Amino acid sequence: MGKTGLNYQTTILKPMRYEGLGLHTGKRSRVTVLPALPDQGVCFERYDLPEAQVIPVSPGNIKRSRRATDLECNGVTVRTVEHIMAAIAWSNIDNIIVRLEGEEVPLGDGSALTYVDLFEEAGLAVSDVRRQEINVACPRRVTRGMSHLIALPYEGTRVTFLFLHNRFQQGDGYPNSEYIDTEVTPETFKKEIAPARTIGFQWELGTIQEQGLALGATLRQAVIIGEDGYIGCTRFSNEACRHKALDLLGDVALLGRIQGHFIGIGSGHSMNHELIKMIAGDLEVKRGVQTGSCN
Ligand SMILES: [Zn+2]
Repeated sequence: MGKTGLNYQTTILKPMRYEGLGLHTGKRSRVTVLPALPDQGVCFERYDLPEAQVIPVSPGNIKRSRRATDLECNGVTVRTVEHIMAAIAWSNIDNIIVRLEGEEVPLGDGSALTYVDLFEEAGLAVSDVRRQEINVACPRRVTRGMSHLIALPYEGTRVTFLFLHNRFQQGDGYPNSEYIDTEVTPETFKKEIAPARTIGFQWELGTIQEQGLALGATLRQAVIIGEDGYIGCTRFSNEACRHKALDLLGDVALLGRIQGHFIGIGSGHSMNHELIKMIAGDLEVKRGVQTGSCN
C-alpha cells in the first residue's frame, strides 16, 4: 500500500499568509504558515519582536485565560490559538510553523473555515515518518457547578456538546439548549464544525469590551445571542454549540493527534485546559511506566 496522509506525518506544501484583526485585541496581525520537518509538531513563532520567540504547542504552555486559549513561553504570549489549532488538526497536518507578526491569531471569519481554506490551498506534503496517534488513556472528568467536561477512551475522535442557554426557558421562542454529537473526520469537521462562528452574548458584550476583550468582533464574525435568540443570520440553527465543539477540538489538539470521545455540557476554555492537563498527566504516566494506571 502506498503512503497516505493517514499513516504518515504531513506538513503543508508551501507557505501561506493571512492578515486580519484579532478577536480580543482588535489589532491587526499577520500569520504566515510554513512547512515543518517530521516530528517537529505544531509550533508558534512571534516574529514581530526584536528577537523571534518560538512557542511550542504543549499543554504546559497554556496561559491562564477564560475566553480563549493563549500560549506562553519565556514570557512571550500568542493569543486565541484554538481555531487555527482545530483547523491544523483536522486538515490532517502534523508539522507546521505558525509565524505571527502580532500577539493574536487573526479571527478570520470567526470560525475555523478561513484556516481550513488556507491549508487546502497550501496542499499537503506526506513524509516517510510514521504518525504517532495518542489516545485518552482513561475516563477523565472536570465539573464546575452545572457544567461538565468528560474525556473517554474511543477509537477515533468523537465530540458531543450540549450548550445551555440558561437565560431562556423553553417556549420563549428560542430553545434553551443546543446539541451536537458527531464522529470527527476531516470531512465532517469541514462541513459541520469548522464554519461555526464565535459566540457573543449581547448582554455581555459591553462588559467584555470594558475588560479589553472581544474588541475585534463584528456581527459578521460572531453569532450574537440576544434576549430573544440569535441576532442576525446564522449558518446553522445550532451554531453556538457547534462553535463550542470547535473550541473543544482546538483545545484538545494541544495534546497532539489525540483520539477520544470528548463530551462537553456547558463547559468552556478554562475547563478544557484543566482536562487537557489531566490527560497530559495520564499520557506521561503511560510513557514513563509501561503499566501506567489511572486513578
Ligand atoms: Zn472559539
